[in-house]
Amino acid sequence: SLKLMEGKRGLIMGLANDKSIAWGIAKALADQGAELAFSYQGEALLKRVQPLAASIGATEMVECDVANEASLDALFARLEEVWGKLDFVVHAIGFSDKNELRGRYVDTTAANFRTTMDISVYSFTAVVQRASRMMTEGGSCLTLTYYGAEKVMPHYNVMGVAKAALEASVMYLAEDLGKDGIRVNAISAGPIKTLAASGIGDFRYIMKWNELNSPLRRNVTQEEVGKSALFLLSDLGSGTTGDVLHVDAGYHVVGMKAVDAPDI
Ligand code: NAD
Repeated sequence: SLKLMEGKRGLIMGLANDKSIAWGIAKALADQGAELAFSYQGEALLKRVQPLAASIGATEMVECDVANEASLDALFARLEEVWGKLDFVVHAIGFSDKNELRGRYVDTTAANFRTTMDISVYSFTAVVQRASRMMTEGGSCLTLTYYGAEKVMPHYNVMGVAKAALEASVMYLAEDLGKDGIRVNAISAGPIKTLAASGIGDFRYIMKWNELNSPLRRNVTQEEVGKSALFLLSDLGSGTTGDVLHVDAGYHVVGMKAVDAPDI
């Protein structure tokens, strides 16, 4: 039987290690026959991400700091050179100073506000701008967001404000590119223990809370985010754009602590 991603080529941005959400997505796509390229932040990460990529048959690894437009240009110039055409892109990148992922939002500094918005919001638009030029036969673009965009979550602070802007940019990008057959969506993932998440204050408590109070009474895995990404990036998701798909064990529908949930 034909695999869902057979003949499709895509870029995965944001692989740091085997706990990364990008890794769960990459595995699901490779399993369905996708040909993948990876970008990684800084040469120091290469020795960790190269064996991961190699284990799923990917050889194209390009260094890219999304804060740097020349670095983004070089990444897409390289893809243009080796592939010419692109079918999908996954943006699994976010950053904020961890000193501001605790305490009060009201204390956010101007410098970290700007950095957070630049890396966690604008970079997706910058990536889609370049990727869409290579999506000559249509395409699918995906970013990662969190419930802290919709409701106040402890310690998420400036990152919540950034994710709200990211979700808004998904809508605007979807409208701009829809006529070219390019879809743009986000997955709102429940809390998952990753390098980026470890910078958030009381993250273990947040995970436990979600486990006890989500409709499924558990947390989600990188693999589950991967399966939903496969839906959005493949033809299965052909009718969906501008959307935020929650992969959070249903937590976003809950209005109050579950009556049967033990205290933590
Ligand atoms: P992670 O630490 O594995 O991945 C974050 C990635 O961002 C890293 O690969 C890092 O190198 C990259 N990055 C940061 N600054 C960069 C820059 N300037 N240039 C290029 N790359 C840069 O953590 P993750 O949890 O897999 O994060 C992926 C995405 O998922 C993020 O957008 C995050 O906000 C989102 N997300 C995470 C969770 C969670 O609980 N882990 C929940 C919802 C959404």
